[in-house]
Amino acid sequence: MTTSDVSEFYKLTMEERVRRVADSVGLSVEDIGTLKAGSGLTLDKADYMIENVIGMMQLPLGVATHFLINGKDYFIPMAIEEPSVVAAASLAAKMARVKGGFKASADRSIMIGQIQLVEVPDPHAALQRVREVKGSLLEIANGTNPTLVNLGGGAVDLTGRVVDTERGRMLIFHLLVDCKDAMGANTVNAMVEEIAPLVEEMAGGKVRLRILSNLAIHRMARAWATFDRDAVGGEHVVEGILDAHAFADADPYRCATNNKGIMNGIVAMALATGNDTRAIEAGAHTYASLSGRCRSLARWERNEDGDLVGSIELPLAVGTVGGATSSHPVAKIALKILDVKTAQELAAVMAAVGLAQNFAALRAMIKEGIQKGHMKLHARNLAIMAGATPDILDEVISELTKLTKITYDDAVRVVRGLRERGT
Ligand code: NAD
Repeated sequence: MTTSDVSEFYKLTMEERVRRVADSVGLSVEDIGTLKAGSGLTLDKADYMIENVIGMMQLPLGVATHFLINGKDYFIPMAIEEPSVVAAASLAAKMARVKGGFKASADRSIMIGQIQLVEVPDPHAALQRVREVKGSLLEIANGTNPTLVNLGGGAVDLTGRVVDTERGRMLIFHLLVDCKDAMGANTVNAMVEEIAPLVEEMAGGKVRLRILSNLAIHRMARAWATFDRDAVGGEHVVEGILDAHAFADADPYRCATNNKGIMNGIVAMALATGNDTRAIEAGAHTYASLSGRCRSLARWERNEDGDLVGSIELPLAVGTVGGATSSHPVAKIALKILDVKTAQELAAVMAAVGLAQNFAALRAMIKEGIQKGHMKLHARNLAIMAGATPDILDEVISELTKLTKITYDDAVRVVRGLRERGT
């Protein structure tokens, strides 16, 4: 990678953008062909991925620029249908660069597999009985995945607790598994299914569920960055962002949207790299509400120089092998563009992107209101919805962006007007 700090990347033609990224990260001619065709996935392959396939649906793949994370430059691939997300992330990363970019890290890839036992007569004593044979249970779990063990991963611990529910006391075990570069759902599910009968034998009662938890609390990723007060727009912008953050952290209605904005970037990256977006969303939103109320996933403070300091921490169960990361041709190219060596590095980069996204959204709302920033792309979408064909599209967009607010009715009116004038 040379640098992702490419100014006015958006002004390049698509051909030039692809060339720029390809030269930087070393994409092959075949990769470039796949990107340009926009159809890395064939119908045959799609038919193997899910059931009842009748076609395919594509999304735009964009690249966010300017990201400097732990001193390394990254182009960030994002698959998303929503306008402004890629631009917002790039702008935030550009501003973060003024003070050295982002710092980020991620924990080991430890996932939780749960085993639920009901009708255990003596759950507290049962917990101890199972604990006594923990070593052999871990060994049996690891027997299901020698590849993972050879890579230095595998089951590392088994913990348990008694949980009171509306159906009585239950004994719940957590098998902790280091999934290395895999997201780990199938890996962990296979392990808990393998040891569940033995756990039942030792504990008594009946085994019910044996399944992964998406609250990947041992697999946290974090990022932080300093945003120069003057670069972000001065004291009033810093103050405004601090107020906006306090609002999100105190009010669930605002918090939901605040965290949705953070996930805009993270989920777009997850989709581009073939990761399980639902798993990531479930983990992040549950984590945000763990204290009993919805909290912002990111935090904003002011340092002694008056600069804005942002940090974020959330569980991120993402992989660079397994699932669609290994089977979707575009996901493989996206991982090449990112040039991450491990799942931990991928999670750390995602956390930085989430922080960037939160900064960009808060700043846009403080400075100009979110709609203004969205205006051109919004106008474009409405123009297309209103039936603008390529010959009049630019003119329709130009007319619409002269308005202070744009509605679908405006777009219909402008399109009709141009048609009547024979433009
Ligand atoms: P997977 O089943 O493809 O397993 C990956 C395997 O690759 C590992 O078990 C290991 O044997 C091997 N491997 C090779 N190199 C490795 C490396 N460097 N690090 C780690 N493993 C390596 O994938 P998975 O990650 O176990 O499962 C992910 C899939 O499961 C996703 O597609 C997800 O959507 C799906 N899923 C999710 C849920 C959930 O989130 N609740 C439930 C079921 C399935």
